[in-house]
Amino acid sequence: MTLGVKRIGDVQREVRKARGKGLRIGLVPTMGALHEGHASLIRAARAECGYVAVSLFVNPTQFGPGEDLARYPRPIQNDLAVCRREGADLVFAPAAAEMYPEGFATTVRIAGLSEKMCGAFRPGHFDGVCTVVAKLLAIVQPDAAYFGEKDAQQLAIVRRMAADLNLPLEIRGCPLVREPDGLAMSSRNAYLSPEERQQALAISAALADTRKAIESGERDAAAVADMLRRRLQAARGVELQYVAVVDPDTLADLDRIGGQALVAVAAKVGATRLIDNVLLRDL
Ligand code: AMP
Repeated sequence: MTLGVKRIGDVQREVRKARGKGLRIGLVPTMGALHEGHASLIRAARAECGYVAVSLFVNPTQFGPGEDLARYPRPIQNDLAVCRREGADLVFAPAAAEMYPEGFATTVRIAGLSEKMCGAFRPGHFDGVCTVVAKLLAIVQPDAAYFGEKDAQQLAIVRRMAADLNLPLEIRGCPLVREPDGLAMSSRNAYLSPEERQQALAISAALADTRKAIESGERDAAAVADMLRRRLQAARGVELQYVAVVDPDTLADLDRIGGQALVAVAAKVGATRLIDNVLLRDL
């Protein structure tokens, strides 16, 4: 087990050894502050791969001005303990200068998909995500990379990038992990005061009811969006940013719900921006 590797060259050397042994390589990219959602990705990788690399990197290029880059939690010792417990083989925790040295000039941008939903509220965010994910994939060259359905738009964009660039790996989506009371797990939940945390439950509760409505036969996407929007606009302490009812692969707005659907929400609770969604398949 090689934990807390800081240099790209060291990662490449370790991974090369593992590949030389014929092991399937899995990569779990994260920003650290690991919780059960992240742990579930490491376990999924562990189940399918002989060698599991986890990256911990609070990627500056995916934060906009005025966002929480400086105060994003970085509990590195705890993160390493989680990686050890879940059986990761390598943890890559680079400094920003290792990833973006002097003269760095490349941006990977997936047009269209990156501009709607969260992209409309966080301009440039997904360019930063795609650039860092492309770099991590190039460094580790995994056979499979693991992403959470919690960030459903990110997953769709990364899938698009992998397909468009013929990246020779599988992108695996893993189910959204929730707290026992329904709140979607997120490193940013740590920002919530006890009162805000209670208020935030309105989001997961409204989405759970939305899932029930669709599973009971509601097929009108506009009706679903209206119901959810009205409910969240009425929720105390919740400042809704968007409600989207889209195809989970193309992120195209749905008119009629059928086959598969992603119902996604972003809202601020106090100063904290939260996202959540329900993903329906085989409708
Ligand atoms: P982050 O550290 O927030 O950038 O997340 C790293 C990876 O963990 C991303 O692929 C996320 O989608 C995934 N992830 C974060 N929270 C959850 C969750 N509650 N359930 C499942 N996956 C998650």
